[in-house]
Amino acid sequence: MKIQILAFLPELLKHLFRKTATVDYPFQKLVAPEGFRGTPVLYPEKCIVCKACVRDCPAEAIEIVPVSETEKKFKMTIHNDRCVHCAQCVDSCPTDAMGMNKEFELAAFDRHNLKIDYVYVKSTPVPRTPIATNTPKTEN
Ligand code: SF4
Ligand code: SF4
Repeated sequence: MKIQILAFLPELLKHLFRKTATVDYPFQKLVAPEGFRGTPVLYPEKCIVCKACVRDCPAEAIEIVPVSETEKKFKMTIHNDRCVHCAQCVDSCPTDAMGMNKEFELAAFDRHNLKIDYVYVKSTPVPRTPIATNTPKTEN
């Protein structure tokens, strides 16, 4: 046993005076890096209610229900208690209406408090700009 401790002693002493690799969380927090997959968010003004996000979410964490058919109003619920932070909804959305923020502190006493509701009017799809075609010139 004594021999084993002696073998580790140089390494132990080396690390004793090094800067620590961890932070004193939750009193000290690191800034989440660019591209960090925190919590999914909706930008309602861009949503065309195609439901691609609902279809592709592997955790069934997104729900969209109509609120008023005449006003084209819908409610999206993101169930953060089910979300696995994969960002598939962001990749699947054709209008960039889904994004991921840097929020990761999602603990709650009641999982139902982790739901986020958005009530909004369906956006009109913006037609894609047609690709210009080169019409061959006729020479006289
Ligand atoms: S991040 Fe993944 S699990 Fe969470 S809502 Fe989007 S698709 Fe679903
Ligand atoms: S957030 Fe994007 S993918 Fe989901 S319904 Fe709206 S437009 Fe479609």
